[in-house]
Amino acid sequence: MNDTIEPTATAEGIQTNVGLVGSHVHQLKLSRVIDETAEARSLVFEVPEELSEKFRYSPGQFLTLRIPSDLTGSVARCYSLSSSPHTDTALTVTVKRTVDGYGSNWLCDNATAGMSVDMLQPSGVFVPKNLGENFLLMAAGSGITPVMAILKSALSQGSGKVVLIYANRDEKSVIFAEELRRLAAEHPDRLTVIHWLESVQGLPSRASIGTLAAPFREHEAFICGPGPFMSATQDALQHDLGMDHHRVHVEVFQSIEGDPFAEIVFEEPEAGDELPATVTVTLDGTEHTFDWPRGTKLLDLLLSKGLDAPFSCRQGACSACACQVEEGKVDMLVNDILEDEDLADGIVLGCQAVPLTDIVKVTYDG
Ligand SMILES: Cc1cc2nc3c(=O)[nH]c(=O)nc-3n(C[C@H](O)[C@H](O)[C@H](O)COP(=O)(O)OP(=O)(O)OC[C@H]3O[C@@H](n4cnc5c(N)ncnc54)[C@H](O)[C@@H]3O)c2cc1C
Repeated sequence: MNDTIEPTATAEGIQTNVGLVGSHVHQLKLSRVIDETAEARSLVFEVPEELSEKFRYSPGQFLTLRIPSDLTGSVARCYSLSSSPHTDTALTVTVKRTVDGYGSNWLCDNATAGMSVDMLQPSGVFVPKNLGENFLLMAAGSGITPVMAILKSALSQGSGKVVLIYANRDEKSVIFAEELRRLAAEHPDRLTVIHWLESVQGLPSRASIGTLAAPFREHEAFICGPGPFMSATQDALQHDLGMDHHRVHVEVFQSIEGDPFAEIVFEEPEAGDELPATVTVTLDGTEHTFDWPRGTKLLDLLLSKGLDAPFSCRQGACSACACQVEEGKVDMLVNDILEDEDLADGIVLGCQAVPLTDIVKVTYDG
């Protein structure tokens, strides 16, 4: 782990490899491993006092864990926090085995209490802006993880109705079944849990999801699950029930291919290069203005200036670094996650954004 943030020039003097990511990498100790189902385990982490600020999180956010690999040294995988910052003291992620998957099986087979795990601090934008809303939560399989954090937080902090539609293969594969029963008994007027079991009802179709969700179309929706479940649900809510896309939030589970723990490498400007753009960035309530070299990604620039800009995958796939362009234009080198509606709202991925205009204004606080 490299904690320095001083720039170090390479022998050629062309690139600058800056120890910036290291300050975002932390090691936490596993205090407990809980068997949730035959295929899913929860990992409970201790947060030492000195890291409590860095590990403050919102319901729906995730951790990025570094998992050892004999082949590549390590792989990085994101796991949503199933704990709620409002009702749980410990930091917990819940990992479900993926058939033939490397990281999930490594964690389920090898994670034990006492083990230290490298990780990036919590990030992600699958977070309710207002816990006082009425919620329509839709999850399938391991997609329950961030949804559970939102559900517990809304029940504890809000006073609205919470409806959970939760699809699973069969009864034995229902993660958090007991806790959901308990919460439904404690909040009979506020929490409704509708289970869908594939073993009994078959795969949930767009039509059946639409029928179940129709009475709750005025609620704020949060959806997480495997690809086919997500597309059927999004089609049902947005197209069939006409819900506004701003009220339908999705979290896509996929594996990171690159290495977000790797240090940032800058191309130093050379004589004759185009003059930099100017960017004004609002982050955590403070405005900052910098020269922005034309080929540099916004996230890399902000980390190089010592700002605590959010990120996870660094490959344009997870949206943890999403921010909003308020003035000017940027290009994204890769975008595997944002949809046309997001782009129309000016949302871009900081980890992939480079300037197209001389002046750009961006906010992370939208
Ligand atoms: C924001 C976010 C939050 C997440 N939260 C959770 C969570 O709370 N709980 C959870 O369990 N998961 C979560 N995930 C998913 C998690 O990060 C992993 O993607 C998941 O655990 C699978 O990883 P793996 O290493 O086991 O599988 P991988 O090794 O990545 O394999 C995944 C699948 O792809 C196939 N595959 C692998 N390599 C190839 C290849 N080269 N060609 C074709 N097929 C291939 C495998 O056979 C397997 O079926 C989250 C993901 C994101 C982005």
